Formats: sequence, C-alpha cells, structure tokens
Amino acid sequence: MLPPDIIRALTDALGPDRVFADPETLALYSSDETPKQVTPAAVLFPAGHEHVVALMKIAFAHKLPVVPRGAGSGNVGGALPVKNGLVVSFECMNRVLEFDPANRLMVVQPGVVTADIDQLARTRGLFYAPDPGSGAYSRIGGNLAMNAAGPRAIKYGVTRDFVLGLKAVTGDGRTVVTGCRTSKGVTGYDFTRLLVGSEGTLALVTEATLKLLPAPETVATLRLCFNSNRAACEAVERVMSQAVLPCALEIMDRRSIEAIRPTGAADDLPFGTEALLMVEADGPVRDVPHQIAALKEALKGEGLLEVREGVTREEAQALWAARKSLSFAVKQYAPLKINEDVVVPVSKLADFIDFLDNLGHRYPFPIVSFGHAGNGNLHVNLMVHPDNAEEMAQARTCLNELFSTVLSYGGTLSGEHGIGTEKRAYVGMEIDPDTLALMRAVKKQFDPASILNPGKLFPDE
Ligand SMILES: Cc1cc2nc3c(=O)[nH]c(=O)nc-3n(C[C@H](O)[C@H](O)[C@H](O)COP(=O)(O)OP(=O)(O)OC[C@H]3O[C@@H](n4cnc5c(N)ncnc54)[C@H](O)[C@@H]3O)c2cc1C
Repeated sequence: MLPPDIIRALTDALGPDRVFADPETLALYSSDETPKQVTPAAVLFPAGHEHVVALMKIAFAHKLPVVPRGAGSGNVGGALPVKNGLVVSFECMNRVLEFDPANRLMVVQPGVVTADIDQLARTRGLFYAPDPGSGAYSRIGGNLAMNAAGPRAIKYGVTRDFVLGLKAVTGDGRTVVTGCRTSKGVTGYDFTRLLVGSEGTLALVTEATLKLLPAPETVATLRLCFNSNRAACEAVERVMSQAVLPCALEIMDRRSIEAIRPTGAADDLPFGTEALLMVEADGPVRDVPHQIAALKEALKGEGLLEVREGVTREEAQALWAARKSLSFAVKQYAPLKINEDVVVPVSKLADFIDFLDNLGHRYPFPIVSFGHAGNGNLHVNLMVHPDNAEEMAQARTCLNELFSTVLSYGGTLSGEHGIGTEKRAYVGMEIDPDTLALMRAVKKQFDPASILNPGKLFPDE
C-alpha cells in the first residue's frame, strides 16, 4: 500500500480520476499475458506528457518502481507489475496528434491501438507496415517497447524501422526528444533506435513519430502443403535465395494444423499434410502475378503436395484468422504454454526444424511450432502441465537445449516478444559480460534510481 502523502502528491499532479489504489483496479492490472500475477500499489492513467513528467518526478523522489503498460498483451511479463510499485497505463493517452500524408508520417500518443494507425493511414493511400498478430488491441507504446513485428516484417521490417522520432520521460523525470520528422537525419546519437525495444527500462514513451509507406495496390496469397516440416523449410530457403521478396512467409507444423481444425481452415488439406506455408506477394496489380509466378517456381520441390493459387480474399482472411488464433488455440494441448520466440538464420531453418522434431520425440510434452519462417522466427511452444513438477523440470532442460542450439546456429533468443521476466535468466547465454555491463551503464544514465521496470530484461547480477 502507498502512504497517503504519496497518493495525495500523485492525485495533485494528475487529477482525481487518474490515480487508483482500490482492490478491483489493482487486480485488473496485476497481470499481462504471462500466467503470473503481482498486485501493484497503484495504477495511474496519465493524460499527457506533462503528467508523465510529474509522476516520474514523484516516483524518483520516493524510489517507487514504475511499470509502463499498454494493453497488457505481452507474453514475457514485460508489463507485469512490481510489488509496491506503480503501474502507468497509457490507455488515456490514445490520440493521433498529427497525420501528415505529404511527409508520410503520423504522430501518435503511446495508447493508440496499433491497427487504428494502419486503418487511418489507408484512408490516404498509405499504410503502417508493422502488423503484430495482437494489432487489433495492442497499443503502439507496447509495440515500441518490444520492437513488435508481424508477418509483413519479412518484406518491410519491424517497428524500429518505422520510427522517425520519440518523446519520452526518463527515470528521474527528464524529457528526451529523439530523432526528427524527415526521412533522413544523422544529428547526434540514435536514441530512437536505442529506446525502441528497451522494454520500458530506459524511459516512458509519450509520443512517437511513425513512418508510413504507400499502401500496396493488391495482395495475392498462396497456400502450400508439404509432407514434412523439413520439406516446407527447404522451400522457405529456396524462396529467400531468389529475388522476389514475399510480404508474408508463414509456417504451421502438424500440431498447429491440428489446433486450427475447429476453425474449418484446415478442412480441405490433402492427405499427408505435415506442414503448411502461407505465402503472400503485394504490390502493383500488374506486377503481383509475376511475383507469384517466381515464388511458385522457387517453392516447387521435394515434399510439396499441393499449391493453392487464387486463394480468394475471404479464404485468405479465414486462413489468417486461423493463423492468428494459434496463440490461444494451442492451449488445447495443455494448460500452460511456454511460449518461445527464437530466430535462426533462414539457411539453418531446415536443420533447426529437424532439431525441433527430434526434441519433440525426446520430451514427453507436445511441442508446437509456427511463425514467421521467412525471417527464421519460429514460435516454439512447449505445452506443459504447471502442477507436474517433473514435467516442468524437463521443460527447463528442454529450453536450455533449445536456446543453446539456436545460438550455435547464429540465432537469437527473441525475434519480437522480448525478454521481460520470462527470458531474462537466459540473456547471459547470448550477450557477453562486457556488453551487458555497458547496457547496465546506459540504463543507469536514463534511470539513475533503477525504478523503471525493474526485474525485466536484465539477468540478475
Ligand atoms: C494473441 C497474441 C498475438 C501476438 N502476436 C504478436 C506478433 O505477431 N508480434 C509481436 O511482436 N508480438 C505479438 N504478441 C505480443 C504482444 O502483443 C506485443 O509484445 C505487443 O507489442 C505488446 O503491446 P501491449 O500494448 O499489449 O504492451 P504491454 O504488454 O502492455 O507492454 C509491453 C511492454 O511495453 C512496455 N511499455 C508499454 N507502454 C510503454 C510506453 N509508453 N513506454 C515505455 N514502455 C512501454 C511495458 O512495460 C512492457 O515491457 C502477441 C500477443 C498475443 C497475446
């Protein structure tokens, strides 16, 4: 519980309807998508940058931990509250401050829902490329903090590639303004790229200037069925070794396909389908058929059972809905999903999928894999029973094996979900001690009292 004088100071700074410490509100904000709960001391709803400056000054003076929060859809515990700390929810900072089609940019507050940015951009023939599966409800502040990405990342890149500048508040209440509004600019250190992906450990983002692109005229979808995971991954490698870049290249393994059966999206797959690829090409109407022809040529090979071309928009939407439902659908296998988000170089993808198949034979729990194959980014889900101590211990051994193999291939622990509380114990496997020490020193500059999202991202010292 917070002492009354601190509640009063926060209420004076933010106004009466913006500071909550009642049990119902605290319970509502006690978790994110991670199956964990920590009750905060208070939840704050700032309305603008100045509110955030004021609350951070109070938090700094009293050394109160501060956890920023978007929609709470993160699955690594990034927005999980800290005991006796404040949760700063950006839900009320949800305004588009400026839409400037001529300069292809939009200035937004952190609480704007991701999909709304894209929707607004499209009213003027533009689009916002990052498309996380949670885009219908995730907030741009959460996307920025996690450097979120989605299927389109293969062609267009990740959130970091679409941020021109930021306004943010440090752990002691200073305002940082980074980047610029132009498409070029090299003045000073690139703090924009530093803050994006920093998981709320360096500063609270209060404003973002986002880059928009011309919207593609059309999109075409291919659906391909393979008789093995390896055959599908070899096809991915062939696609990535030729010139035409698809705007999506997604894989689902057999268990993922089983998980989407209730949606009807897998009803007409040929017998023997063990893996499915969704491949999309976008661009000018006259160009897309040529792209599709080149992609089909590259995708041909051993183990290919069927290519469905001319997938209608409705069919494609149903397939995407099924693909996006997988995060929840896999829970039919077991109550707890240990949700990994590893990346390997595409040239190692086929070997990596063999490794995963082998892992699945050696451990007693189902392992379900799907994701952004074109980026080498697979969501590897260990489906376990949390009350089975032996299974949980085996899952930990399995994770160590998974991460060691990914790193031995030249990969990385997380492609888009981030580290949060869930993966921080493994960060030392990837980042060497000197680099980690430098990162801690950078954090100290932004957050001298170590109150911003403590217990996230960094391993214990
Ligand atoms: C069904 C499902 C599908 C998903 N698909 C994808 C996907 O395709 N790609 C992907 O990348 N992720 C995906 N995710 C994960 C998640 O949605 C993303 O990480 C998303 O970016 C989180 O946004 P949020 O608004 O929910 O943030 P939260 O979960 O609330 O917070 C995420 C992090 O951002 C920090 N934060 C929030 N706002 C700010 C701010 N203003 N300043 C500083 N730090 C801040 C928080 O402290 C936390 O560390 C998925 C999740 C689900 C449940």
